[in-house]
Amino acid sequence: MEGAAVVARTLKALEVTDVFGVVGRPVTNIAMMAQAEGIHFWSFRNEQAASYAAGAAGYMTGRPAVCLAVSGPGVVHALAGLGNAWANCWPMVLIGGATSTDHSEMGGFQEAPQIETVRPYVKMACRAESLARVPFYIEKAIRVAMYGRPGPTYVELPAEVIYDLMDESKLVLPRPVPPPPLTFADPKSVRAALELLKTAKNPLVIVGKGTAYARAEAEATHFVEKTGLPFLPTPMGKGVLSDEHSQSVAAARNLALQSADVILLLGARLNWILHFGQTPRYNKDVKFIHVEIAPEELNNSVRAEVALAGDIKAVLTQLNDLLAKSPFQFPKASPWWNALNDKVAKNKAVNAKLCADERMPLSYYRALKGVHDTLPHDAIIVSEGANTMDIGRTIFDNRLPRHRLDAGTWGTMGVGMGFAIAAQVVHPGKKVVAIEGDSAFGFSGMEIETMCRYGLNVCTVIINNNGISMGVEDLSGFEKPNVPFFVYTPQARYEKLIEAFGGKGYYVTKPEEIEPAMRDALAQKCPTIVNIMIDTAATRKPQEHPFELGATLGGKAKL
Ligand code: ADP
Repeated sequence: MEGAAVVARTLKALEVTDVFGVVGRPVTNIAMMAQAEGIHFWSFRNEQAASYAAGAAGYMTGRPAVCLAVSGPGVVHALAGLGNAWANCWPMVLIGGATSTDHSEMGGFQEAPQIETVRPYVKMACRAESLARVPFYIEKAIRVAMYGRPGPTYVELPAEVIYDLMDESKLVLPRPVPPPPLTFADPKSVRAALELLKTAKNPLVIVGKGTAYARAEAEATHFVEKTGLPFLPTPMGKGVLSDEHSQSVAAARNLALQSADVILLLGARLNWILHFGQTPRYNKDVKFIHVEIAPEELNNSVRAEVALAGDIKAVLTQLNDLLAKSPFQFPKASPWWNALNDKVAKNKAVNAKLCADERMPLSYYRALKGVHDTLPHDAIIVSEGANTMDIGRTIFDNRLPRHRLDAGTWGTMGVGMGFAIAAQVVHPGKKVVAIEGDSAFGFSGMEIETMCRYGLNVCTVIINNNGISMGVEDLSGFEKPNVPFFVYTPQARYEKLIEAFGGKGYYVTKPEEIEPAMRDALAQKCPTIVNIMIDTAATRKPQEHPFELGATLGGKAKL
């Protein structure tokens, strides 16, 4: 057997169903043998988007998908996805080809220090020194990616290992990796957590994407409903409990964070997304109850009053069991619920007014609302671009867990096309809608060819303001190359790109065109692009706490 066949057979034995990548020396035969084994090989235009897809597939399925990259530049391109998976705690395995060992340090073809390059972003990086060891390394890479805090791993296969031959009778295939063993929290701490919640005047539950990853939606919903506590999702925690749930206080986020006295933090880190858990965004005396699979994350930034190390599904089961024995319900008729409900109603009314603005050119709010109203309830929403994503988060409802993918912990722009492909691969029957700023789309726009080639039914919506953060109406007044740095080609007809590959495009400039274009696009069987022109100077409503950069620059820059 050739080495490439050993790799493919091992992946099959380990129940890997999808490999995302780009072929070339020395990995081409791995893709060929994977297809022969019945594994889907999704051939991309750039390893960057392929690696983003592998990470997102790992998040949605709970098992790592594989990204296959050629040596040197291929691995460097795929580093983007490794970094993104590392930052988001998503499992994935990167298999990188490498120049043959007998050319090491001699300027071999695409030679690069790959292990050193990936090392800071992976839980494990290894280089197979012989073909016989390949099954061991791949099994370990999958297991390590899944167990404990999920994350990426790397296996390097030098050319001589991929091209080597072994006797088929000597091949020992690994058994599939069982799901990670559940870890339960210390029962004493579980009791302390519930006691603390009972004493709170202003309690709050924050649902992070760790809860989504843990598939703890049933347990989280049970706990929130039995206790009557208000909850707030993080961006990718949206949908663990439906955004339409009556206990969601997402629309009163600032008030909820600032005034809560006890916060149950489920699978989210106190990083920039949650303002580090510190003042002025939080009450200085707030007490955190933190549930987290990685013990070393506990007490980070803010010391937890109760630190629960364990799997969220398991810990919520412990909390629910205890609650059944000693029930408590936070009263609906309380000053805290009244204040939250008032704020939710006020903020929703402000948003509704912005969304109803029919003036031309279109605002973000009107454009996104038009898109939202046409989506099926179980659509998978991919979202990126600064304003497109931030405003979209307040407009798009998620009703199901793991149905929102966005720029995430790393704030990575350019993930959308890879994520959308992964979402359609994982959920072939569902509508996948990638709502992209025009600049975010540009990073991996050529992957629309990948979508068309495989007939992946993704609807890409481009919210087009002619640039990064803002644009201009035309470039004729600028002497080149002194074109404003934030500007892209005005009125770019991105929708025409997809027609080159057999998809269908729509160009929208007026409010009344949005819904018909979206409905038609969603009814197509082929990939589509709906290019919606908005005001080149459109912005968010003023924020009480501007994002760091805006604040540092006196709110002048809106990057
Ligand atoms: P968000 O982006 O929603 O704020 P983060 O990515 O900051 O969320 O945090 C997710 C956290 O969830 C990570 O710290 C990760 O270790 C943790 N996590 C992942 N899986 C589990 C699990 N099964 N049980 C508990 N915690 C988990």
